[in-house]
Amino acid sequence: MFMNLYSLLEKGFPKDKKACALETHDGLYYSWGDLERSTAMMANLLKNLKLPKGSRVAVQVEKSPEALFLYLATIRAGYVYLPLNTAYQAAEMQYFVENAEPALVVCSSKNFAWVSKVAFKAGTKHVLTLDDNRTGTLLERAAVQSDKFKTVTVKDDDLAAILYTSGTTGRSKGAMLTHKNLGSNAAVLQKFWGWQKGDVLLHALPIFHVHGLFVAAHGALINGSKMIWLPRLDTAQLLHHMPRSTVMMGVPTFYVRLLADKGFNKQTARNMRLFVSGSAPLLTETFNSFKEVIGQPILERYGMSETVMLVSNPYKGNRVGGSVGIPLPGVKVRVVDENNKPCGPNEIGSIQVRGPNIFAGYWRMPEKTAEEFTKDGWFKTGDVGRWGGPANGGNAPDNYLCIVGRSKDLIISGGYNVYPKEIEGFIDDMDGVDESAVIGIPHPDFGEAVMAVVVPKAGIKLDSQAMINTLKTQIANFKVPKRLEIVSDLPRNAMGKVQKNVLREQYTQK
Ligand code: ATP
Ligand code: MG
Repeated sequence: MFMNLYSLLEKGFPKDKKACALETHDGLYYSWGDLERSTAMMANLLKNLKLPKGSRVAVQVEKSPEALFLYLATIRAGYVYLPLNTAYQAAEMQYFVENAEPALVVCSSKNFAWVSKVAFKAGTKHVLTLDDNRTGTLLERAAVQSDKFKTVTVKDDDLAAILYTSGTTGRSKGAMLTHKNLGSNAAVLQKFWGWQKGDVLLHALPIFHVHGLFVAAHGALINGSKMIWLPRLDTAQLLHHMPRSTVMMGVPTFYVRLLADKGFNKQTARNMRLFVSGSAPLLTETFNSFKEVIGQPILERYGMSETVMLVSNPYKGNRVGGSVGIPLPGVKVRVVDENNKPCGPNEIGSIQVRGPNIFAGYWRMPEKTAEEFTKDGWFKTGDVGRWGGPANGGNAPDNYLCIVGRSKDLIISGGYNVYPKEIEGFIDDMDGVDESAVIGIPHPDFGEAVMAVVVPKAGIKLDSQAMINTLKTQIANFKVPKRLEIVSDLPRNAMGKVQKNVLREQYTQK
């Protein structure tokens, strides 16, 4: 019998219940006692709704302390939390609600009309509202509940959450995560990242995704640390609160924006002991300039909705730019060829993983689930990587993992494998280039042809033919883009990830 995830987190809450658990951007303070009472009241409300065992609670609301409490209340009551991206509109919500069949849907009151229509049509019994100004029917109904609740006992493999993947490579899939998956990962990260007494987490990530909800919030909760709770990424707000913070987690965009701001310096970051980056590749250029300006390296880690965190650069020890680090304790990682045979150092292959953190399968997709596991139980991440090899102008040690890209983005041109990241590296190093994406487009002779989509730095005019000519002197001809388009920006999804499938579609039609 595994402990309810909430009970595990609760073990880390401070004894002083008056201590601050959350401080908001608009100056509100929530104590640990407030957190315990609010989650108890919401858990009692869920219990009194008499939702069947295993019910999904689907939540599409703006970020607020109460939204975090609703998550905690759901797992306390033994139900399955299902957060949804606030950007989703009617067609997307219809897909998720019909797919997940939640017993309860919680939405913003401004969306109540259309969300409730979609939900009731899909058979949902209850629709409540929650806004980011401490109002909504959920809170009204929770207000009359008891503020004591006995956290429900669960089994090892009972689901705590279903997290839909970011939809970078296609339609989002619901990853089923158990109490054990989430609890074991939270405990491992607390140690691995050296969480300590007095830590304050600067939290500006969305909480409908693995990064903000599980990696960041769990870290502070299991350590009993205060969070400074910002509604979204806002550089001015980050800089305002940073001097009182010690830990921050962000997607690479956070770091690019911070570095572009003159107010970001050693002085503003004087109390910061840890900056974590993940969800998308961190450019070595960002890694290096951060180290130069702030005097400490960003810690890059790698994980996904299906597995929570897998690999991380060390807290103490060598953080290598361009590498995601070493497997976390308890997590097994292998890089294999087409026959599932382990690759040697610096050989590119598929990344497969095992461990107590690996999800229970895709919600209502048994065939897809079976496809993504090997016969001997390894989960195929869909990412391609290598142990060691070139990283940041040198070589990463052989026990460090480097991500080369996603298997779906691999280009096969004239029978040769082309890894987009390698070519992107050369393009990004050229003067006047801000960023680039290399994709494969159909080609009558080669099967696929390499194509590059390039964003120039502000005010710079790039010459595509000259760039192609330069690349010809640097890399093998089969890797040189046959076509190079200059654009003003790359398509990105809500987590800031470049959507190569959108680019492929766009340039295949033309
Ligand atoms: P979908 O599975 O729906 O296509 P997604 O894979 O982007 O979307 P997530 O689970 O949010 O959905 O993201 C996990 C993926 O993000 C990983 O498989 C990996 O490709 C990428 N990723 C995460 N961290 C890093 C990192 N540090 N460097 C490079 N890629 C990363
Ligand atoms: Mg994925």
